[in-house]
Amino acid sequence: MAHCVLIIEDEPDIRKTIDYNLSKESFKVVQAESIKEGEKALAANKVDVIILDLMLPDGSGLTLCRDIKSDAKTKHIPVIILTAKTEEVDRVVGFELGADDYVTKPFSVRELILRVKAIIKRGATYSTQQGNENSDIELDELRMNLDAYQVFVCDEEIALTSLEFRLLKHLVDRRGRVQTRDQLLEEVWGYSSDVTTRTVDTHIKRLREKLLGVGNCIQTIRGVGYRFTKSAN
Ligand code: CA
Repeated sequence: MAHCVLIIEDEPDIRKTIDYNLSKESFKVVQAESIKEGEKALAANKVDVIILDLMLPDGSGLTLCRDIKSDAKTKHIPVIILTAKTEEVDRVVGFELGADDYVTKPFSVRELILRVKAIIKRGATYSTQQGNENSDIELDELRMNLDAYQVFVCDEEIALTSLEFRLLKHLVDRRGRVQTRDQLLEEVWGYSSDVTTRTVDTHIKRLREKLLGVGNCIQTIRGVGYRFTKSAN
């Protein structure tokens, strides 16, 4: 079955180029040129990935990203943000709001399509793994509900972005073993081009802060990477 990609972008040329290239790769493509249209398209289609421009005629894509990620019906849908190079701040905010990836304008269509494929593959792997496991992970104060994408520390729910959730799950699944930054990029982000290893450090830092006391379980192995260690010992 064809995966459906929703493009929310007000520049017709960009929209058409992405549509043309994704359609060639057998994706089903839905176009929207504003937030309002995007919301309508989301309600009317079973969307697998959203490509979201930030500067839209009726508001900021960031607002829409936040709405998508806080609605139980849509929060599982990966969002790839399109930003101009100068919008570094927006990119950071985008990740905070739960965006899964970003592509900087001007971008290569080929790269964007690779990102879309990586994100779909990641989601597929994730649900297969999920199917073979219990839907809960419990380690002392940390509890992860894999079906609901929820994380609790001492019974308090912690709001993680989907990327942070995957990063944590990856480390917890391999607890006691060191994961290099390159491994994390490849297995959690799903590709290694254009993302520097510093991205990993930034996300680990934010994840640690959010996890309160459990954050200390993520140890830095200097010059190598990270390791999740059970807090009880
Ligand atoms: Ca725009």
